[in-house]
Amino acid sequence: MITVENLTKSFPGKGEHVLALDGVSLSVPAGTVCGVVGPSGAGKSTLARCVALLERPDRGSIRVEGVDLVALRGRELRDARRRIGVVPQGDSLLRQRTAAGNVALPLESAGVAAPARRARVAELLDLVGLTNKAGSYPDQLSGGQRQRVAVARALAASPSVLLADEPTSALDPETTGSVLAVLDRVRSELGVTVLVVTHDMAVVRRICDDVAVLEGGRVVEHGKVLDLLTQPGSRITASLLPEVD
Ligand code: ATP
Ligand code: MG
Repeated sequence: MITVENLTKSFPGKGEHVLALDGVSLSVPAGTVCGVVGPSGAGKSTLARCVALLERPDRGSIRVEGVDLVALRGRELRDARRRIGVVPQGDSLLRQRTAAGNVALPLESAGVAAPARRARVAELLDLVGLTNKAGSYPDQLSGGQRQRVAVARALAASPSVLLADEPTSALDPETTGSVLAVLDRVRSELGVTVLVVTHDMAVVRRICDDVAVLEGGRVVEHGKVLDLLTQPGSRITASLLPEVD
């Protein structure tokens, strides 16, 4: 369960500050998938990065499994970070490491011994359907395969929550399907709570239970995917839907 309350985050800009998040509240029930959509600059990545503890909000609270992450410091903060899986926006794999090497990275940082690490990496690559690509370098993988490695890496420390920022952008529809199938498995087989940032309503339709629409750092709509798709309650939501269905 992720509960975000009144989250505010500004960045210094030229002249005045940029208010990237302007009092965002959002709740994602355990074991569900919530989509975050909205135009470029709406604050989607900033929201995901705040929940991932990669960015510190100015105000507000973020609770994961009841623990307020914003209040944590030092070792507790580092431990909490490990319990949150992150698939960052863009290409995030280390090019000089194989698929297996990339997935092993968080386990190495956590001090997991080599035999246990190897077993866990094999398990994770199996989960994302890439056992046969363990020894391949990112350059030798397709875009969809690279994203699936990134998902496997994000799950290495068995997080209860997974944040994926545009995991399917720049992928063709077929490859997108393979990444979405993996995210679907993560929820259904591992019971992980997933927050997925996307600009693609087809992604929302395919894997999300709920969706939040962000614009100008605010949630303009939040509800069940089916309700929003059939009855968009705002101009911005309507503009994200394809004209012909
Ligand atoms: P996109 O769909 O293009 O990825 P987004 O919804 O993810 O957009 P954010 O990256 O969250 O948008 O950015 C929200 C606002 O905050 C933008 O105006 C952006 O320029 C600003 N911003 C984000 N990160 C920073 C930063 N590190 N420094 C300064 N401004 C930032
Ligand atoms: Mg973004």
